[in-house]
Amino acid sequence: MATPDPEDRDVRLDQLVELVVTLASGDLDARMAPSPVADRIDAVIVGMNMLAEELQALTTGFEERVAERTQQLEDAQQQLERLALYDPLTGLANRTLLRESIEHAMNRPAPPAVLLLDLDGFKAVNDSFGHSVGDMLLVDVARRLRAVTRERDTVCRLGGDEFALVILDASDHEVLDIADRIRTALSTPVHVGGQSCWVGASIGVCFAEPGQDADTLLRDADTAMYAAKTRARGSVAIYEPSMHAAALSRVLLAEELRTAMTDGELLVHYQPIVELLTGRTCGVEALVRWQHPVRGILVPGEFIPVAEDTGLLVVLDRWVLDTAVAQLASWRATVLQGVPFGLHVNVSPVELRSPQFSEAVVGCLERHGVDPADLTLEVTETQMMGEDAQTMLAMTALRSAGIRVAIDDFGTGCSSLSYVRREFVDVIKIDRSLITGLDTDPQQHRIAAAILAVVAAFGLAAVAEGVENAAQAEQLRALGCRYGQGYQWGRPVPASTMTTHLRCTVDQERRAD
Ligand code: C2E
Ligand code: CA
Ligand code: CA
Repeated sequence: MATPDPEDRDVRLDQLVELVVTLASGDLDARMAPSPVADRIDAVIVGMNMLAEELQALTTGFEERVAERTQQLEDAQQQLERLALYDPLTGLANRTLLRESIEHAMNRPAPPAVLLLDLDGFKAVNDSFGHSVGDMLLVDVARRLRAVTRERDTVCRLGGDEFALVILDASDHEVLDIADRIRTALSTPVHVGGQSCWVGASIGVCFAEPGQDADTLLRDADTAMYAAKTRARGSVAIYEPSMHAAALSRVLLAEELRTAMTDGELLVHYQPIVELLTGRTCGVEALVRWQHPVRGILVPGEFIPVAEDTGLLVVLDRWVLDTAVAQLASWRATVLQGVPFGLHVNVSPVELRSPQFSEAVVGCLERHGVDPADLTLEVTETQMMGEDAQTMLAMTALRSAGIRVAIDDFGTGCSSLSYVRREFVDVIKIDRSLITGLDTDPQQHRIAAAILAVVAAFGLAAVAEGVENAAQAEQLRALGCRYGQGYQWGRPVPASTMTTHLRCTVDQERRAD
């Protein structure tokens, strides 16, 4: 071991202090070679080197771990963002992202257009085929929406069966063109889970004004969408300020309808159905009315859509059925007695699908002592959605109980001839739109003739709806149509007026016999 030179000692001590300062400043690469003296200073030097080594190893590992954790955090952040901004079922943007894209779009030179769409008939698919089929349908609708829009447009699922689109840099004409493409895209049936379902869409369009905020824009598009819903199925409506008042009154109406039922404000009117050959009233259709305390008598078109939206339609229909069947029992006991006579009552397809429905109808007939053969239930053909098993089952159950089933509004919408067979129904009611031009338009005449021929070929009875004049009645008679209904023979009237009418009819017949 060499003897330390005091001067050398001082130098080494200084260097050691320097090393400590450098290390402390964060430069962990700094090292100092021990001297051959190998005294206590050298021991500290070696110790410092080891500590620096250790520290360096620690920090390198630490940096790696920090990088790893940062990546994990970023991934989680992205996942959260996806969850927060996209709909997990369809992968479309959600409401939050929609609002962001609207706000973003409002900062561009040309304000965007917002389209809001709601599927018609989605609830029926969900109710009858189950949620998994409903989900698959939504995924397919999302795919179709993406296919007809451009890359720069935002397609969003707001929840349930509501979708929204933000259209950028497009003229009004182009926007309406997109709306039309959506309607076309949704007009072909969706094949899911072995079922073939058809849903159309009602579309509300709102063209943004400069400076408008996302919330009012969405609210206006929603208002337009509701206006579209009250028009024909699959309509497109462009927002107008006057639509607000209508939307507000609908909300009010729903509230009032709830109490109208318990307060006895609902009425049933009856419209005669006549035998075309003899002109004899052979039955009536029950049509609901609402005696509104302020607005007077309201017709179904003014409140059935509200009842449907608020789930009140089933209760309403049951009430109409019970009231009309009780009325028939009373007519049987007084004016009608044994005269052949049929009561027609409208039912909503939602109710028809419910498994307890036929039992409820049979129960109602029993309670009032009415023959099942006197009752015909009318179901709208467009709402039947093809041959879904539950509807067919319900119709079979009703018919095996002796109740008759009619297809209402036949000839509107995309009809399926598959259920126009004796195994499923008894009566076909031909829609007013096919009767209106019967006496003036040769084309309409040919269509009506063809439909009547098909109905007759299947051995079913036909009732022509909306017959308004003698010429139409005559044409129908010539085409072999057996029954008619329309203003030509009488408008829907209260039960008391109908009682008088029936008394006259029956008396006339008795005198004729
Ligand atoms: P619908 O079943 O097709 O009933 C016939 C509609 O045509 C009635 O309208 C009737 O007043 C009208 N009408 C009858 N003859 C003529 C005519 O010669 N010319 C014209 N222009 N119209 C005629 P209303 O009473 O307004 O009922 C509309 C619809 O509301 C009904 O159409 C039916 O689908 C529905 N509805 C009525 N009552 C009920 C009900 O109790 N339950 C359900 N679910 N729906 C109902
Ligand atoms: Ca009807
Ligand atoms: Ca009808």
